[in-house]
Amino acid sequence: MSSKQDYYEILGISKNATAAEIKKAYRKLAIKYHPDKNPDNAEAEAKFKQAAEAYEILSNPEKKAKYDQFGHAAFDGSGGFGGSGMDMDDIFSQFGDIFGSAFGGGGGFGGFGGGQQRRRAKGGNLRIRVKLNLKDVAKGVEKKVKVSRKKQASDTTYTTCTNCNGTGQVTKITNTILGRMQTATACGVCGGSGQQIENRGKGTDAHGLKMEEETVSIKIPAGVEDGMQMKVPGKGNEAPAGVAGDLIVLIEVEENPNLQRDGENLHYDLYISFADAALGGSKEIETVEGKVRIKIEPGVQSGKILRLRGKGLPKLNGYNSGDLLVHINVWTPKTLSKEQKNFFEKMKDDANFIPDPQKSDKSFFEKVKDMFS
Ligand SMILES: [Zn+2]
Repeated sequence: MSSKQDYYEILGISKNATAAEIKKAYRKLAIKYHPDKNPDNAEAEAKFKQAAEAYEILSNPEKKAKYDQFGHAAFDGSGGFGGSGMDMDDIFSQFGDIFGSAFGGGGGFGGFGGGQQRRRAKGGNLRIRVKLNLKDVAKGVEKKVKVSRKKQASDTTYTTCTNCNGTGQVTKITNTILGRMQTATACGVCGGSGQQIENRGKGTDAHGLKMEEETVSIKIPAGVEDGMQMKVPGKGNEAPAGVAGDLIVLIEVEENPNLQRDGENLHYDLYISFADAALGGSKEIETVEGKVRIKIEPGVQSGKILRLRGKGLPKLNGYNSGDLLVHINVWTPKTLSKEQKNFFEKMKDDANFIPDPQKSDKSFFEKVKDMFS
């Protein structure tokens, strides 16, 4: 048995965590330790893989039940999911169900546990970053990006590899103390493609490929979040023979100075003066769709939250949009003129100026509690 860290501990959740909590915990870690955010950081990569492995087990009711009963021993040995983990492709294909069906998934090779599928030679994946603002997130957006990718040249021709007879694999038999072992490895001559170059095209590399710039159009659905990845199948490097790799798109969402995002909801801090709070009026606020005017009731309290339904962001692959929550902050002047000072001195003990909170004037903390329950 290995001395691996407990999967619940890795995700920072209790054993009673619900499926939604497990998913949420993993999502947070996946974004935090994402290799694109932590380049050349082996520790982050290890944590990223560890979290993916924990999620892979705990998100599957059958595997979770086994793990709860037997611990890591359930997956040692012939369990199929050999502890040492998943490669990055596996992890990214797992993102499909974490971040919605628009992401990952759909690829040729089916994640884990599917047994040994023979992989066709695949070109390398390419990665790009795409910057979005909140408006792009609200509406969804189509981005055109220039990508330099290796492509097959029309004047390169291929023929069946003579080393592996086109199977892409060579079988090696070795004698070991455990007996004769047969192992299949990718053919060293054709790199697993089964094809050899017959005629190399002009200006191509050793594999008969040429660098070409291409404009790729990427449809980004509404509701995406910072750190998510999308896969555009077949837009990575092409392979000498075989299938092209994928274009991995990392989504970056720019912060908006006035609108704070919290999932589908947006928060806006509105500062109003004593006078506006007492007299009421209308104020202009920012939304993702531009400025709008909202009404302030006379006698509004600092800390009140106005909810503009549906003015938040849409759910990824969902129908509803979140809300825009406008937090009222009454601005207290930092200095007063003599005249103003006199005014407040006079009003200080006036019955209207003495706090008398009613049930409807809930405290800030009660409101926050309500909002998240
Ligand atoms: Zn070969």
